[in-house]
Amino acid sequence: MIPRTVYNEDHEQFRDTVRKFLEKEAIPFHGQWEKDGQVDRALWNKAGEMGFLCPQISEAYGGLELDYGYNSIIDEEIARAGLSGIGWGLHSNIAVPYIINYGTEEQKKKYLPKCISGEIVTAIAMTEPGAGSDLQGVKTTAIKKGDHYLLNGSKTFITNGQHADLVIVVAKTDPSEGASGVSLLLVDAQSAGFQKGSNLEKIGMKAQDTSELFFDDVEVPVENLLGAEGQGFIYLMQELPQERLSVSIFAVSNSEAALQWTIDYVRERKAFGKPIAAFQNTQFKLAEMDSELTALRVFVDRCLELHYEKKLDIATAAKAKLLTTDFQCKLLDECVQLHGGFGYMWEYPIARSWADARVQRIYAGTNEIMKLIISREILREI
Ligand SMILES: Cc1cc2nc3c(=O)[nH]c(=O)nc-3n(C[C@H](O)[C@H](O)[C@H](O)COP(=O)(O)OP(=O)(O)OC[C@H]3O[C@@H](n4cnc5c(N)ncnc54)[C@H](O)[C@@H]3O)c2cc1C
Repeated sequence: MIPRTVYNEDHEQFRDTVRKFLEKEAIPFHGQWEKDGQVDRALWNKAGEMGFLCPQISEAYGGLELDYGYNSIIDEEIARAGLSGIGWGLHSNIAVPYIINYGTEEQKKKYLPKCISGEIVTAIAMTEPGAGSDLQGVKTTAIKKGDHYLLNGSKTFITNGQHADLVIVVAKTDPSEGASGVSLLLVDAQSAGFQKGSNLEKIGMKAQDTSELFFDDVEVPVENLLGAEGQGFIYLMQELPQERLSVSIFAVSNSEAALQWTIDYVRERKAFGKPIAAFQNTQFKLAEMDSELTALRVFVDRCLELHYEKKLDIATAAKAKLLTTDFQCKLLDECVQLHGGFGYMWEYPIARSWADARVQRIYAGTNEIMKLIISREILREI
């Protein structure tokens, strides 16, 4: 094992606290939450009390002002335990950073303390039924009418969609423009005309609430514009590397856990009078998976280091997302195979992770879009 150097002793103590919390407050209940289609809302408030939500927020707004390593440790522990229903990563690493980085002082004072405490759950609504990869093509409009924007349209596949109290909505403030017509709005889920659709039924991540959202003449006060009008697309491009790093961290940690579950299983399970681990096929599969995983862990840790220094570029984050999520799915498929029929049973964590992992290649930009980003960078000179 190559020793990890991205975390110090304080990080590791924090990991211990997160792990113990999850063992007590989440692992025993996750199976029920999968049936409910969402985690217990109270988990968010408990996490807030523990300092697990947005630990990076500065003390001025009641935060712990910790480095991004703390966010990633939370991701790693959730991934390691296969707790795919917990949407803290979307909140702390993806949605709230828009408020931190582009919000006005008033917006920060109003929202950040409640994002830390768990009183406010956030979501980010980019995708629409007709526009996912091609975000410039969003049809949701926010037309300025005096002191408010009139928001109309619909979104789909929105993580934390049922629990969300505050949604960052990607909308066209100038529908005649492409990317330069896109703005971000902070929309209160209690606003008149805002409706949450049904909790979508998915093939994995069953405890994660994922929803359609509908906006029918929602009046959004002009002071809820996030950043400048027409700059939304640029903000999205700036924030997506962190989102993709977060997905990569999850992928590697979940893969490590899945490999360990499989190692334990093949040592125990017997066929033809010997443990499955005694077959050369098993040994070679484990060796291949472990080798690739070692390389990806080192790569992702290096990306995390670069991110600490604010030097993680868009193409490198895309490479991490592409490689780690493709690998996670490949590894889980091999691990299910080594579990035989038991690997197909929902009660086995390997089965759940196999189903959960599939979306990793789809959200945060599909892996085909990652290839577009990387190839554009390679061919920039042409
Ligand atoms: C569980 C889940 C949670 C999600 N959470 C959120 C969320 O919180 N907020 C949010 O806004 N969205 C969320 N999404 C949406 C997700 O980001 C989109 O599904 C994703 O970006 C792909 O968009 P799409 O589904 O419209 O697919 P499409 O864009 O229609 O793509 C279909 C296929 O075409 C390929 N394709 C598209 N364009 C190109 C191209 N130029 N070149 C090559 N291939 C291409 C894609 O790679 C894909 O294989 C979530 C989705 C899921 C399933």
